[in-house]
Amino acid sequence: MSSDDRVTLPKLPWKPDALDPTISTRTIEHHYGAHHRMYVEKTRELVRGSELEALPLEAIVQRAHEQGNKQLFNNAAQAWNHTLYWNSLRPGGGGRPGGALATVVERDFGNVDALRKKWVELAKNQFGSGWVWLVIRSGGRLALEATSNADTPLVRGDVALLTIDVWEHAYYLDWQQRRPEHVTAVLEKLIDWSAAAERYAAVERALA
Ligand code: MN
Repeated sequence: MSSDDRVTLPKLPWKPDALDPTISTRTIEHHYGAHHRMYVEKTRELVRGSELEALPLEAIVQRAHEQGNKQLFNNAAQAWNHTLYWNSLRPGGGGRPGGALATVVERDFGNVDALRKKWVELAKNQFGSGWVWLVIRSGGRLALEATSNADTPLVRGDVALLTIDVWEHAYYLDWQQRRPEHVTAVLEKLIDWSAAAERYAAVERALA
């Protein structure tokens, strides 16, 4: 592997039709095959021949943020955000978190229904493009956070457990302007609580 291969388009964790009809095959083909691919290719192009070329994607996002390199930040952060997004979804998802994550969801949100309600509200109120994240803040509390455009909790040192893309390209073909309904369906049918519980457990182990 040459250093030029550090940033690549990751494989989807399921088949392109696996999330249909909540997210159609056509949406996945455009969103992953065109948008995500473009963010990855643009990032590779922008770091080529520079000292950033040898770095993993997370480090490129951080460095672009520190340097105020907006074009690189936007593309690299979007490449990273989308990888977490695909890994926040699975066919047959939804339901409730388990294990230690269930306990902290109750502690920090009351219950999972309250968390879902707040998630949909944040998605609804996010003006323009962005993301809604479930993160672990420093100190260990869970929080929901909406961000604009390419912004990512990675640059604030928060650990992202799950994310939902609320750019129009994520839902418009299937849901048109009905973003809250789309996000509700994603939370009910696709969100991958088991992946979030694994990420939470990994953070707990690292802190222990
Ligand atoms: Mn997107």
